[in-house]
Amino acid sequence: MSDLPKVALVTGGSRGIGRAVVERLAQDGFETWFTYVSRPEEAEKVVAEIESAGGKARAFKLDSGDSEAVASFFKEEIKGKAELEVLVNNAGITRDGLLMRMKDEDWDRVIQINLTGCFTFQREAAKIMSKQRHGRIVNITSVVGQMGNAGQANYCAAKAGLIGLTKSSARELAARNVTVNAVAPGFIQTDMTAELPEKAVDAMLSQIPLKRLGAPEDIAAAVSFLAGPNAGYVTGQVLAVNGGMYM
Ligand code: NAP
Repeated sequence: MSDLPKVALVTGGSRGIGRAVVERLAQDGFETWFTYVSRPEEAEKVVAEIESAGGKARAFKLDSGDSEAVASFFKEEIKGKAELEVLVNNAGITRDGLLMRMKDEDWDRVIQINLTGCFTFQREAAKIMSKQRHGRIVNITSVVGQMGNAGQANYCAAKAGLIGLTKSSARELAARNVTVNAVAPGFIQTDMTAELPEKAVDAMLSQIPLKRLGAPEDIAAAVSFLAGPNAGYVTGQVLAVNGGMYM
């Protein structure tokens, strides 16, 4: 048994789904480390909240789209300093627009953060977890990566790509006792969906059999299962948490 802290690392843990995941994994007993990019005050609040509940947390300003910075982070902060039990690839952005008007930069940035960033984190985590011979990776994809969505070609392509990345790496890493799964949220109440007009929200609700938007905690519960002791024989799966929207 090593004396190193047993860490769950969550990308984009300062707000929304990532924050709920950080809080839930802290309740599950992990030391939770998370990244953010633009809002240090939100990140500090999360750390303070976990520490006041008796847990341990650390926040790192780290852009998922900067692959050199991500590789250095693993080298300097994780290797030899933590037992990396769990990686949750959660950080994500949208730059919506209709296909015919979508700018290259909006395509590139969404793919860079939502897909390439997850690849980089996963590659670096896999090096450590495969040496440890245990680890859990959970990628946050989306219902729209499974069914498509008008106005989100870049986002849907990234999220569908993330499912392919999940399934391929699950096959590669299984022999090292590392599981890789995805959670596919439906429409969840966070900053990402807060600015949608009422009409768009009503249209969404009409597609959801359970007739409500999801809460970040609904997604955190699914991540907790996949990261926990009861999911040791689950790998390469996409767990849909979407109110029955896509089955
Ligand atoms: P959110 O409320 O917008 O929060 C995004 C989080 O990601 C924040 O912590 C943000 O940090 C961080 N982040 C953004 N860009 C980053 C970057 N370049 N590097 C590092 N961190 C970055 O989003 P959310 O709704 O919770 O979504 C979380 C994940 O769930 C995303 O992957 C999203 O695609 C997916 N998802 C969401 C929904 C939904 O309905 N909300 C549905 C399906 C899937 P700062 O605070 O520093 O900005």
